[in-house]
Amino acid sequence: MMQIVPLPALSDNYIWLLRQGNQAIVVDPGDAAVVMNYLAAQALNLNAIWLTHAHYDHTDGVAALKQHYPQCQVAGWSEWPEVNRAVNEGSEFEVFGQQVAVWHIPGHTADHLAYVLTDSAGQQRVFCGDTLFSAGCGRVFTGTMAQMFASLQRLNSLPENTLFYPAHEYTAANLKFAQAVEPDNPAIRQALLQTATLPTLPVSLAHEREINPFLRTSQPPVIASVVQKGLSEQQSTEPLAVFTCLREWKNRF
Ligand SMILES: [Zn+2]
Repeated sequence: MMQIVPLPALSDNYIWLLRQGNQAIVVDPGDAAVVMNYLAAQALNLNAIWLTHAHYDHTDGVAALKQHYPQCQVAGWSEWPEVNRAVNEGSEFEVFGQQVAVWHIPGHTADHLAYVLTDSAGQQRVFCGDTLFSAGCGRVFTGTMAQMFASLQRLNSLPENTLFYPAHEYTAANLKFAQAVEPDNPAIRQALLQTATLPTLPVSLAHEREINPFLRTSQPPVIASVVQKGLSEQQSTEPLAVFTCLREWKNRF
């Protein structure tokens, strides 16, 4: 049975570690020591590193891990440092009894990737980096608002029991914003109470559909809030315009 373990790292990152038998994979290791300590304590070997994007808090541990585990494969775009297993949209492979599909989900960065796992029972799990967070989404840096919106829509097209494994513990702050957008949403209020216990992740898509304003751009209370923030009535019928207004509001929140 594959297990998935969150390794807290830096100030608010999670390095997700997948393990089966004595083998392990890590996603976005921003800190090598955190990973090496766990691997040593659990007598695990590092098979692979999967990268979602090349920001330092996701990649700073890669060089040291590769030096310590020279046979370890580093998956990502071929242009990224240390990558020796080039993947991109449509790449597929199998590991720990899971079918893995790589998706290109631009927005946070223009080259952001996700790793979409499907187990033998059909359960899907997504390592989505800095694209979808619980109750939020990543900032738009080198991608565009339209790309980020389309990437979130694509993630939102998965079955509702899909589990997401974002790379940051931002849930409490995101829920405060979500509550400012939808003060009367009981699911947001309930989710805020649950942020006392960490980690708040993974999260299901069904849950995100109830609380994440960036997936709720067609909901009347969300539209009413962005109109109050200055979006015209006409633009408020366009989900991308609602999304963009929300993202800019969150940047200042
Ligand atoms: Zn990032």
